[in-house]
Amino acid sequence: MALQVELIPTGEIIRVVHPHRPCKLALGSDGVRVTMESALTARDRVGVQDFVLLENFTSEAAFIENLRRRFRENLIYTYIGPVLVSVNPYRDLQIYTQQHMERYRGVSFYKVPPHLFAVADTVYRALRTERRDQAVMISGESGAGKTEATKRLLQFYAETCPAPERGGAVRDRLLQSNPVLEAFGNAKTLRNDNSSRFGKYMDVQFDFKGAPVGGHILSYLLEKSRVVHQNHGERNFHVFYQLLEGGEEEMLRRLGLERNPQSYLYLVKGQCAKVSSINDKSDWKVVRKALTVIDFTEDEVEDLLSIVASVLHLGNIHFAADEESNAQVTTENQLKYLTRLLGVEGSTLREALTHRKIIAKGEELLSPLNLEQAAYARDALSKAVYSRTFTWLVRKINRSLASKDAESPSWRSTTVLGLLDIYGFEVFQHNSFEQFCINYCNEKLQQLFIELTLKSEQEEYEAEGIAWEPVQYFNNKIICDLVEEKFKGIISILVSPWLLQGLRLGLPLPTPPRHKLADQPTRKSLGRGEFRLLHYAGEVTYSVTGFLDKNNDLLFRNLKETMCSSQNPIMSQCFDRSELSDKKRPETVATQFKMSLLQLVEILKSKEPAYIRCIKPNDSKQPGRFDEVLIRHQVKYLGLMENLRVRRAGFAYRRKYEAFLQRYKSLCPETWPTWTGRPQDGVAVLIRHLDYKPEEYKMGRTKIFIRFPKTLFATEDALEVR
Ligand code: ADP
Ligand code: MG
Repeated sequence: MALQVELIPTGEIIRVVHPHRPCKLALGSDGVRVTMESALTARDRVGVQDFVLLENFTSEAAFIENLRRRFRENLIYTYIGPVLVSVNPYRDLQIYTQQHMERYRGVSFYKVPPHLFAVADTVYRALRTERRDQAVMISGESGAGKTEATKRLLQFYAETCPAPERGGAVRDRLLQSNPVLEAFGNAKTLRNDNSSRFGKYMDVQFDFKGAPVGGHILSYLLEKSRVVHQNHGERNFHVFYQLLEGGEEEMLRRLGLERNPQSYLYLVKGQCAKVSSINDKSDWKVVRKALTVIDFTEDEVEDLLSIVASVLHLGNIHFAADEESNAQVTTENQLKYLTRLLGVEGSTLREALTHRKIIAKGEELLSPLNLEQAAYARDALSKAVYSRTFTWLVRKINRSLASKDAESPSWRSTTVLGLLDIYGFEVFQHNSFEQFCINYCNEKLQQLFIELTLKSEQEEYEAEGIAWEPVQYFNNKIICDLVEEKFKGIISILVSPWLLQGLRLGLPLPTPPRHKLADQPTRKSLGRGEFRLLHYAGEVTYSVTGFLDKNNDLLFRNLKETMCSSQNPIMSQCFDRSELSDKKRPETVATQFKMSLLQLVEILKSKEPAYIRCIKPNDSKQPGRFDEVLIRHQVKYLGLMENLRVRRAGFAYRRKYEAFLQRYKSLCPETWPTWTGRPQDGVAVLIRHLDYKPEEYKMGRTKIFIRFPKTLFATEDALEVR
C-alpha cells in the first residue's frame, strides 16, 4: 500500500498518512522512532474513546457502531464523560497487569486510554486530595462483568496504595474475603457461571496517608431458595461442590460425605454438577487458604463445614407416611450425622422435622405433619441454616477487616471508598419473588444514577457559572413508588390481611394500578396468578406462586428451638433464644429488603459517585461475539443515550484551565513554552490565536467548556501536525 509522506518544515517530525493507522515518525539521534498514534485521528478504526466526541451523538446506531469498533479491537472501555462503559470480553486480555497499574497510577484520566484503572486512580486521588468519601457503583445485567470489575478495583488498590504503618494484613484480608464470599454466595446460573446470588457493598477505609486500613461489607438478600432447588442447567452454591471435590478424605469421612455430588438431592436438581469453566478442586484450595487469612481458626473451619455438610444431609432426609398419613423420618443415617454435626438431640430433631408446635392459650400442642408439610419444614430449615450462616460469615469477615487502629487518631481521619456490586436486572422464563426483589433493587439504583448524574451535571454548570437548558429524561421513580410506596405499593400489599385471606381462597394477586403501566399495544395476556411490571429495563411477568411463602419466610417454632439448642458454636450464634420470646411478627423479607435498600441509597448519596456501566456482549458467554440486539437493549435500558444527551446538551467537553493550557500551549507563540500569568488568561490568549468562535466555547470559573467535538478535533489535529 502506498504511503503518503509529507515533510513538516518546522521540525524533524515526518507525518505518515496511512489510511488506517495514522502515526508519526520522529527522527532522533538513535534512529527512527514511531510515536504514539493519536487516538483522535485513529477514530475511524477504533472509534472514539469518549462517546461525547461522537459527531452524531443522538444516533443510537452511531453509539453502537462505536462500541462495535472498539470491541473488535479489544478496546472494551469507553467513556461517557466521567462514566465508564465496559463490554465483557469473555477472554483474558492481559490488561490488568502490573504494568497497567503502573501506567494508570497517578496519571490524569485524559492522558491515557479509557480503563477501569483510570477510574480507580481518579477516584482514589479525589479521595486523597479532597478527602471526600467516594462510591463506585457498578451496574449491568447478570454476566456483564460487575464482579470482575470489583475484584480488579480491589486489586488495584491493594497493589498501588501505600502500605499502612500497622496492620498490613488488612490488604490480604480485603482480597481474600472475596473467594470465601463467592464460594458461599455465588453459583452457576444460565446467565453466568459465577453469578453473585447476593448483593454486596464494600467499604474500604483509608488513613490520612492513603493506605488501606480496614473494610466493611454489607450484604443484601442472599437467594436462599437455591439451597433447596435449582433450575435445569444451574447449580447450588459453589461451596458444596468445592467441598466434595477438594475436601480431604479424612475430613469428608468426619462429615459423613461422599465425593459424588449425585448422591445429594440438593445438588442434582439442575443436572449440571460439573461445569467446564469451573475447577472446584483448585477453587477449594483457594477458599481453604483464604479462610485462614481472614482469621478462621481450625475449629471454626470445622464448625463451618459441619454446617455445609448438614445442609447436604438435610436434603437427603426422607419421610414416609404412617397409617395415619403422618410423616416419619426413614433415613436414620442422615439423622445420625445431623445430630452430630449440628450438636442437637436426635429425638428433638426428629420430632421437630415431623411435627409442628403450636402455642394456644398458653398451652403447647404438637401437631403431626403430613409428607408435604414435613418436606416443606425440612427445606425451610435448610434455607434458614444456610442463609444465617452466610450472614454470620459476613459478620466474621467484617471483624477480621475492622481497622485494628479504631482508637488511634489516624482512624478518625479515615476516608472511605465504597464498591457496590449488586445483582443485575434479571428476566427468566419464570420470574418469582427473587427476581422481583432483584429488579426492584436495580430500579432503585437506576433512579439514584439518574438523580446523581443529572444533579451533578447541573451543579457543575452552576458552580462554573454557566447557563444551560435542562434535558428531559425518563424518570423511573414511578416504578419505584409502585413497588415501595406505603400502603399502596406492592410490598405493602403483600402483607395486607385481605390479600392473605384472598390467597388462601385461591384468588390471584391484584394487578397493580393500570395507569402506572405504560401502554403497550400487543402483549401476552396475563395468566392466572401473574402480574407484570414495566421496569426501566423491560417488561417482566412475575408469577405469584410461592411469593407470599418466600416473603413470610416461615420457620416452624420447634425447628427454631432445636437450632437454638445447637452445640455448634456458629449455629448457636445464628439462632438466638430471644427470637422465640419475641411476640411481634417479624418484618417480611421484602420489607426488610426495602429498608436495607433505602439505607444503601442514603450511604451512596453521602459519597462522591463514580459509575461503571457493564454490558454483556452475547448470551453464550463467548469471546468476540457482538450481539447487536442484546447490546442495543442494554444501551437503552442503562439509559446510556440519555446520559450522553445530558452530557452533550450543554458542552461536549470540559477541562481545567491548567490542563488545557498544558496540552495545547505549543500551538500559540504567546503561550509557548511557558505562560506565566493566570492559566485562565493563557487559555483566552490561546483560543483567540486558534480562532475559536464565541458560540463554540464558554469560560467557566475553573474550566473551559467546549460545545462541539469538532472544535476539539481541530485543535487535536493541529497538535498532531506539529
Ligand atoms: P456479573 O457480576 O456482572 O454478573 P461477572 O463479573 O461474574 O458478571 O462476569 C461473568 C464472567 O465474564 C466472568 O466469570 C469472566 O469469565 C468474564 N469476564 C467479566 N469481565 C471480564 C473482563 N474484564 N475480562 C475478562 N473476562 C471477564
Ligand atoms: Mg456478579
